[in-house]
Amino acid sequence: MPTDEITVNLLLKIMNNSLEVMKANEKYLTHLDAEIGDADHGINMVRGFSLVKNRLSSLTNPNIGTILNTVGMSLLESVGGAAGPLYGMFYIKGSEPTRGKTEINKKDLAALLEAGLKGIQTIGGGAVPGEKTMVDALDPAVKAVKESINNDGITFMMALEKATEAAKEGMKKTIPLIAKKGRASYLGERSIGHQDPGATSSYLLLQTMLDTLNGKIGLEVTKFGTDGSIIEEMYI
Ligand SMILES: [Mg+2]
Repeated sequence: MPTDEITVNLLLKIMNNSLEVMKANEKYLTHLDAEIGDADHGINMVRGFSLVKNRLSSLTNPNIGTILNTVGMSLLESVGGAAGPLYGMFYIKGSEPTRGKTEINKKDLAALLEAGLKGIQTIGGGAVPGEKTMVDALDPAVKAVKESINNDGITFMMALEKATEAAKEGMKKTIPLIAKKGRASYLGERSIGHQDPGATSSYLLLQTMLDTLNGKIGLEVTKFGTDGSIIEEMYI
């Protein structure tokens, strides 16, 4: 059901599918975090999106803004480590340009992703691309959607596909980087050769948005390399 906008019902579905995808990749994300962090990213994301599902189910007559704000508040409250505040801020700030809206078009998507990324950067010690964080996946995704805004030849779905591809490329590029932010930065050069867990969950969440709009749930990484790179992924 490729679409040119995300409705309230589709957004609720995306969030519920995000929980399924985090569950399916819990061990993978935790493995990545064990390499350069404290081995809790998968567990944290599952806990966070479980609360998201719970809270969203009790909203009455939600709009895009209230959904995204509720997602952010739930993640802020339930996800431990740095990921809670960062993802919390992403959705809370991302909710601002979509307040009162009942659907998201291509332009809204760009605005929400950009506002979310800025939210992360304000509390993430001003993280910029190249520092081995979720910003490495999100920044190129934002750029991809922004580039599509004034190009009528690029549909909503194409823009989202480009964003997801860009996030995946950005995620892969974190492998050779030295971590400059967060717990992984304490490792210095030993952080080289490991894919960043936050960039990976960011990619998976964008991919889930795309997959949901294509009538699927999302992907499970079923095989990965010693550097954490994805070798095989399958639809759940
Ligand atoms: Mg951690």
